[in-house]
Amino acid sequence: MSAPDISVVIPIFNEEQGLPLLCARLFPALDALRRPYEVIFIDDGSRDGSAAALRAIFAKRRDVVRVLLLRFNVGQHLAILAGLERTRGRHVVTLDADLQNPPEEIGRVVAELDAGHDFVGTVRQLRQDVWWRRTASNLINAIRDRITDIRITDQGCMLRGYGRNVVDAMNACEEVSTFVPALAYGFATRRTEIPVAHEERAAGETKYSLYKLIRLNFDLMTGFSLVPLQLVSLFGLLVSMISLGFVAYLAVRRIVMGPEAEGLFTLFGIVTFLIGVLLFGLGIVGEYIGRIYQQVRRRPRYLVLESLQDDRS
Ligand code: UDP
Ligand code: MG
Repeated sequence: MSAPDISVVIPIFNEEQGLPLLCARLFPALDALRRPYEVIFIDDGSRDGSAAALRAIFAKRRDVVRVLLLRFNVGQHLAILAGLERTRGRHVVTLDADLQNPPEEIGRVVAELDAGHDFVGTVRQLRQDVWWRRTASNLINAIRDRITDIRITDQGCMLRGYGRNVVDAMNACEEVSTFVPALAYGFATRRTEIPVAHEERAAGETKYSLYKLIRLNFDLMTGFSLVPLQLVSLFGLLVSMISLGFVAYLAVRRIVMGPEAEGLFTLFGIVTFLIGVLLFGLGIVGEYIGRIYQQVRRRPRYLVLESLQDDRS
């Protein structure tokens, strides 16, 4: 069999309920393109029956399906990177498993790749998520836009297309915490964005807790920008200058008005505020150091439990 033209990469974490629905729409949508394709499912250490379901899907569609079972949960973005390393297609499309990205839209992403783009971003139309997720993600998009050189309208939409050159560049990276669309962005030379439909989760619940979401966005901010660090030092500089002026003013008052000890609570206010800023600053520095530490340990980013593939396909 010839090498596939299109590789589709789908990370799976506890999606047992949704997998049959996904397959019922994914394969017809891909068959309709009438081009050789492969689908790479990465089981991101699921604790439900996802792995067994993926084995069954593999048994049925060995001609086009490959399954990578990871030993433990490493998160959506690393799981996608594990999948990208196994892609063979000229065009690579990533997709969520929960049908929030309609598989029928893959054809439109592929058309943009055919047109010579190597980074096809997407913008969710009428995003079907809870209001606080939408608000938070607008805020994060705006911050990311200011503090990095990455210009993506909707960074959270994971239905995306990448050219082989971009995927090869990503595969050469060894970072342990990353944000796939941002990483790809830097390696692409012909970028484009298209609007895509967005649906409600077909089954199950979101796999992102608030904590996981915050961690992911720290990965994005610290992985692609040094501005948070620079802001801390700029703020420190500003506070020192203000304090210097304040001390000078107090010294003059001491001479002119004699000793005074009012405003104790104001002092408390200012001090607790500054301690807060200090801890926040320390935390930001810690975010970078933690990532450097993870990186220098050079432990494997993920461990493969089993790889299911038919070597004839
Ligand atoms: N996912 C994963 N590992 C994780 C969390 C999520 O592989 O630790 C997968 C999940 O199975 C889904 C995709 O990433 O295919 C997006 O997850 P989800 O739909 O829960 O995110 P949301 O749409 O709520 O942002
Ligand atoms: Mg989802």
